[in-house]
Amino acid sequence: MASWQSYSNKLEGGLCRYCVLFPQQPDRGGSQRANPGVLVCSSYQKPYTKALGKNGILTSHDKSSMHCRAAEKADLFAQNFRNPDDRIDNQLLKQQNKQEQTNKDILRLIVIAVEFLAKQGLPFRGNNDDEVDFSDESINRGNFVALLQLMGKFS
Ligand SMILES: [Zn+2]
Repeated sequence: MASWQSYSNKLEGGLCRYCVLFPQQPDRGGSQRANPGVLVCSSYQKPYTKALGKNGILTSHDKSSMHCRAAEKADLFAQNFRNPDDRIDNQLLKQQNKQEQTNKDILRLIVIAVEFLAKQGLPFRGNNDDEVDFSDESINRGNFVALLQLMGKFS
């Protein structure tokens, strides 16, 4: 019995679990659009021995591109289910949480700097703080910017 075969008590026959759970467009047969048919839309209810062999329905279904695509989707689903950290939505969520934590840490430092200056009665601004340029530390940009630059060296 192949890994994709299942027996349905309700339908009293065999089904392909990959094609039922991950339905794909059926293979095109001639000019007419093929029907997914037995093992997908209806159960296989004939004797099992007739389904085997080179021309049996199990062999032909196993080789159909519809089934191969469904099996590929099933494998991907199983991989994602076993390794949820590999899923792109979880990776994006992890990155977003990391960025949120970084922003919270920065905001916490800004609040600490504001509290410190307020408690000490120090002005936030200096004479040359019209623009904030953190690259040149030789320019005095005022107490607030200088305090943030100092805290940035230790975080
Ligand atoms: Zn199938």
